[in-house]
Amino acid sequence: MTNKEDTDKCSFCGREKKDVELLIAGIDGHICDRCADQAHSIILEEIKKDNTFSLDGVKLMKPMEIKEFLDEYVIGQDQAKKVLSVAVYNHYKRLTQRIDDDETEIEKSNIILVGETGTGKTLLARTIARMLHVPFTIVDATVLTEAGYVGEDIESLLTRLLQAADYNVDAAERGIVFIDEIDKIARKGDNPSITRDVSGEGVQQGLLKLLEGSVVNVPPQGGRKHPEQKLIPLNTKNILFICGGAFDGIERKIAQRLNTKVVGYSAAKNTDRIDKENFLQYISPLDLKSFGLIPEIIGRLPVLAYLNPLDAETLRNILTEPKNSVIKQYMKLFALDGIELEFEEEALQFIVDKAVEFKLGARGLRSICENIMIDAMFEMPSESIQKFPITKAYAEEKLDKSSVQRLKAG
Ligand code: ADP
Repeated sequence: MTNKEDTDKCSFCGREKKDVELLIAGIDGHICDRCADQAHSIILEEIKKDNTFSLDGVKLMKPMEIKEFLDEYVIGQDQAKKVLSVAVYNHYKRLTQRIDDDETEIEKSNIILVGETGTGKTLLARTIARMLHVPFTIVDATVLTEAGYVGEDIESLLTRLLQAADYNVDAAERGIVFIDEIDKIARKGDNPSITRDVSGEGVQQGLLKLLEGSVVNVPPQGGRKHPEQKLIPLNTKNILFICGGAFDGIERKIAQRLNTKVVGYSAAKNTDRIDKENFLQYISPLDLKSFGLIPEIIGRLPVLAYLNPLDAETLRNILTEPKNSVIKQYMKLFALDGIELEFEEEALQFIVDKAVEFKLGARGLRSICENIMIDAMFEMPSESIQKFPITKAYAEEKLDKSSVQRLKAG
């Protein structure tokens, strides 16, 4: 006698239960694991086709809503968030604006973010990308060189954007490019150089073309390894460029301009109200010029925002507040093993103090935590406990044992 279960078949491919890994029953049919898998891929493909990078039906978030979204992931940096929110909002508006001959055309406003390394420039750009429906890519300015020299041609950053857009030219033409370490292509000094400056001024000149908006022939595979590839023309007019850089030492240029001294008490009367702890807040395009960006580039980056250095209080917030903060990630990892992880406040404070002591900034928080947590992550999954408290004593002991010297900056 045959059992009913044995005769059940997948209603899609007809395979019998015995021939498949899993057969899921519906009201009057069945689906096997393979067909379910295939159906899932089809759905993903279709969604991608319909929605990726499409602005149709996308709710235009208002600047305040964009900032609220950024607040969930990035701590502090209010000025930079405000400026970015407005720029992104305007970027969207420009993209959705109907072209009308006598209408005022909104020009794009590329952005430059200045702030010490590890203060959240890339995080801001990444977070923006997370909420946008436009292709987005991050490139490092240090790898770019003038055409014909060792390094990547400037067009390669558009190759990356094209790849991020799945080679959809229309979508790439309204994407966002984050150029990191823009300060590294500053020319050395305020005066135009007499000798050739392969990775500095030359690259700035090359970038200018892209920032201004022009049709650039982009090698779809990138690099110079595929000379036979057909170039794809890409118009950069509507691509939003966000540049970021640490601009080490720019405080001195700002201080000079403000006609005051970083050290000493001889400040003129009108500089009394200047906050000497954080000169960056007074940054102006002039300082970028003194640092070595050419005026044409500065002119093409009209939105200038700064990021504050991170103090202990901000680091403490970064540890637990963002939606995917380091601590929340550990708690989730342990929760998946059924263990409730608890960090005592003193332990958190200890982690922050170490990050400050080692001058590691926000990036150091993770490496310090990793050193403290490695033993627990190794041992706990095999133990049957439900709660695991991390005390200051525990954190201290684990960090002492780890190769903590390696973490110290410099
Ligand atoms: P930058 O680009 O300025 O050098 P990142 O954005 O790469 O720095 O920051 C490094 C890491 O430090 C980020 O991945 C993030 O975890 C953390 N971080 C830095 N600044 C912040 C901040 N303001 N809020 C939350 N996390 C931050």
